[in-house]
Formats: sequence, structure tokens, C-alpha cells
Amino acid sequence: KYHEQLVELKGNIRVLCRVKPVLKEDQHEEGQAVVVTTDPHNESALIVSSKGKPKIFELDKVFQEIDPLITSCIDGYHVCIFAYGQTGSGKTYTMEGTVENPGINQRALKHLFNEIEERKDMWTYNISVSSVEIYNEVLRDLLSKDGEKLDIKINPDGTGQLHVPGLRVMEVKSFQHIKKILAIARKNRITFGTQMNQHSSRSHALLTVTVLGTDLASGAKTTGKLNLVDLAGSERVWKSGAEGERLKEAQNINRSLLALGDVIQALKAHQTHIPFRNSRLTYLLQDSLGKGNKTAMVVQVSSLESNVGETLCSLKFAQRVC
Ligand code: ADP
Ligand code: MG
Repeated sequence: KYHEQLVELKGNIRVLCRVKPVLKEDQHEEGQAVVVTTDPHNESALIVSSKGKPKIFELDKVFQEIDPLITSCIDGYHVCIFAYGQTGSGKTYTMEGTVENPGINQRALKHLFNEIEERKDMWTYNISVSSVEIYNEVLRDLLSKDGEKLDIKINPDGTGQLHVPGLRVMEVKSFQHIKKILAIARKNRITFGTQMNQHSSRSHALLTVTVLGTDLASGAKTTGKLNLVDLAGSERVWKSGAEGERLKEAQNINRSLLALGDVIQALKAHQTHIPFRNSRLTYLLQDSLGKGNKTAMVVQVSSLESNVGETLCSLKFAQRVC
């Protein structure tokens, strides 16, 4: 109940922030100061104190449960959950998590199947899943070994809806089943090393779960969608010393993250024109980002001084969209 009220009060786009704790391996540089802290008097404020006056960022909440968003999705909403931040800030940790500490993806899907089970006397649900990667503005199917390139087309049925011909969509029967599918997508995801992080991912990874509900009594139908998005690293190009292909890659990432920010900002401002078409990411997600849908953005930041430039950029992005 409490959570549902929060969703109501905070509107449809919420920005959360997660500060990565300092890990042993992060401290190899001497004298690494911790410069990001939370305000003890205000749980939705972060303080960044490095060089000069501390900067304060007010966000919706520093961390929040995602369960009410998933419930909305079963009720027929389209929901997007993004993880944004520089490489190494914990995006994949937040979305995928570990065996001991499952991330948003697993927790969301577990909640989804639990909730459906609870409703089974009144509703029946069909769950299907697809997963794509967007790398250098090219879409690839993460559920297919060949990883064929995909195009986004406008449905010829005249509804103006988008579809992706050839995209593999799998029906899912249980939480255990979807866990296996997640593992396939993870394996297929193309990763490239940069100087900053050998395992960094330079692509956006999207998992889309479609929830078709049928009311057993009346036959009424609902279509909910849940998009779980692990975005490519937001760090600036020059920091990784990029040239050639890597530079192009970084520019594409930068452009699509900017496009995402522009779309969210336009939606918040209730503008009539929403610039969905400026990137594959926003184009593909347009039916989940518009009016009546719900979006959460988890902005990941490092608390270490050596990352303060990227941390400030990420928090400015967060503030622009929240
Ligand atoms: P990104 O996906 O943003 O590049 P990762 O999720 O891969 O970053 O995180 C980088 C490293 O930090 C990983 O080894 C991850 O396990 C660890 N890490 C990130 N966030 C946390 C956290 N909240 N608690 C413990 N370890 C974390
Ligand atoms: Mg990652």
C-alpha cells in the first residue's frame, strides 16, 4: 500500500540513485577519497564533495523497491527500468546481480510469477520474452546464437505500431524457465574491453517481457510490458583514449544516451513532440516510454574521488530527467 502511494505521488518517471560501495579492488590507488555521501537529514539527497563547495543532488529516492512497478505491468502498464552510469559503477550488478544477491531482473521476474500465481483464480496470463542488444546503432537478437542483425519496421497493419521482423520471442512458463533464458542472453551479449575495464560492455542490453492477461470471468484483456535495460557505459570518450572504431562506438553510445535523456525530459515537460526517432534505443522503446507508462532510471555512481567527473555528469543527467 505504502509503495503504491509512492508511485502515485511521484508520477510516472522516477529517478533513483545507487552508490557503489568501495570494494577492495577499487582502492589500489593510494589515498582514494570517498567523495559521495548521503545527507543524514534528507534520504533523497546525495552530497558530492570534491574541490570546493560540496554539491547537493536531490533525487526521488536513493534506492527504492521495484515491486510496485512490476505489479503495474501485470495490470497492463508498459514499464521501463534503466540502469545508467559509467563503466564499473554497478549497472550490471544492479540489473543482473549475483547468485547470493540477485539483481532487479531476477527480483522483478520472481515477483511477476508470484503475483500471477496469486491471481490465478481470476486471471490467466501469457508471458513471453525477447532480448536484444544495441551496439553501434545495430540491433541484434540476444536469444539467437547467430545474433542476426534486426531492423525496426512499422507494422503494415496501419496501427502505426513497431515490430521487429525475425525477433525471437519465447513463451515462458515459470521463473526457472526465464532464468535459463536470461543466461542465454547474457552469454550472447557481445562485450568489448576498454582501457578502463576489460569486461565493460559497450552495448545496451534490453530484456522485454510481455504480459498478456485475460480476465477469466469477462474475457477482458490487458497487455503489459516490462523492459529491463542495462545501458552502455556513459563515460566520456577521451577518458578511455578512444580512436577509430572505439571512437565511433563511444559517439554512438553518447548520442543514444543523450537521445534517451531528451525523450524523458520531453515526456516530463508534456511536450507534444517527443524525439523518439533520434536513436534506435528510444525508437524501439517508444511504446513503453509514452503517456500512461512508467519509467524508473537507476543512476549508478562511484563514490571515489578518481571518478568524480563522471559521477557529476551522471548526477547531472539524473537531475535533468527527474
Ligand atoms: P557496470 O555494469 O556498470 O560496468 P558492474 O556491475 O560490472 O559495473 O560492477 C563493477 C564491479 O563492481 C563488479 O565486480 C561488481 O560485482 C562490483 N559491484 C558493483 N556494485 C556493487 C555493489 N553494490 N556491491 C558489491 N559489489 C558491487
Ligand atoms: Mg555492465
